[in-house]
Amino acid sequence: MMQRNSLPLRCWAEIDLAALEGNIRKIRKVLPDPVKYVAVVKADAYGHGMHQTVARLMHSGVDLFAVANIHEAAQIREMGSGWPILLLSALLPEEDEYALELQVTPTISSPEEARRLASRAKSQNRTWGVHLKIDTGMGRLGVWHEEAVKLWQVIKEMPELHLEGVYTHFSSADSDPEFTKHQRKIFLEVTEALEVNKNPGILIHADNSAGLDSFSHRSPFNAVRVGLLQFGILPYPNSLLARVEPRPTFRFITRVSLVKTLPPETPVSYGQSFRTKKKTKVAVLSAGYGDGLPRAMGNRGAVLIGGQRCPIIGNVTMDQTMVDVTHLDSVQAGEEVVLIGQQGSGRIEIEEFSEWAKTIPWEVLTSVTKRVSRLYKTPLGI
Ligand SMILES: *Cc1c(COP(=O)(O)O)cnc(C)c1O
Repeated sequence: MMQRNSLPLRCWAEIDLAALEGNIRKIRKVLPDPVKYVAVVKADAYGHGMHQTVARLMHSGVDLFAVANIHEAAQIREMGSGWPILLLSALLPEEDEYALELQVTPTISSPEEARRLASRAKSQNRTWGVHLKIDTGMGRLGVWHEEAVKLWQVIKEMPELHLEGVYTHFSSADSDPEFTKHQRKIFLEVTEALEVNKNPGILIHADNSAGLDSFSHRSPFNAVRVGLLQFGILPYPNSLLARVEPRPTFRFITRVSLVKTLPPETPVSYGQSFRTKKKTKVAVLSAGYGDGLPRAMGNRGAVLIGGQRCPIIGNVTMDQTMVDVTHLDSVQAGEEVVLIGQQGSGRIEIEEFSEWAKTIPWEVLTSVTKRVSRLYKTPLGI
């Protein structure tokens, strides 16, 4: 009998878990030994698939996982109860009881949250490990740094809450080293004022992928929170992190579904935003914005066919995208088309793809839709 999951694919992502594991090893190598590695796996592990990615990361010796919400935490809990899971977002009041049951470590930014969580823990006769977040200039979560000591005093009075970490988040680690330095300095002052730097049991962390560029080995930082870099992507061009030599873990692939020739002066796709200048060989690809090929790439981006770049012509549509293949000798229906990754001697980096799409690699990865099957190309254990 025919099975749906054995049907040929029209658009898929190829995920290299061996590269992921190698990247963890390489990142750890540039960090001092005792530094804890918090693997950030929010948003379905940056579009890679939560279960498969987390399973491999568990094998790769990461110390903690960080997620955005309790649904993601629950996915990890389905795989094992022992791993510490840090919740990066604020808990909604109705989520408190589930977070406690799932043994996730919440992030506290306010006295209200501290009171809420303490009373929840108390009602269950439990203590609850928490991280205190300091806002040093991100303007998102965290207690404003000038109020950190006051909040710490509130938490100290609560026997139900056990401080396991203090952290901050950089707003511009990939674009403004001066501001990042400023945030780091404020954060260090806060850790001194809280006297948490004297307690080696408390995790002190600030660095996301881009922050690692200026990670200081002498500082009290004893943990890092890495997302993008573990997927082989540098957070910005010319990043010092290039020395880590991470390998991309994600290829984005589709197929040619039709090849045809159009006469000169023929419009292509919705809105006629492109018109052929001469006789043009066009390949219709079986992927569009419904798969995560951004509409912004219409008339801007390119793809690889037979290792050669072919420009996108006309608007990207929901299920199909047209490319100019006039310069190719032979193109066949069914041929593989690479949207992100290597093909033969050609390569499209996610950074370039992101520029075409007028966005950032984080958004590209998390915008690849559910319709796109994730294929895991490497076995467990290397
Ligand atoms: C997403 C996130 C990270 C990881 O950021 P990358 O740039 O992907 O390494 C770290 N910390 C917090 C608070 C985050 O939200």
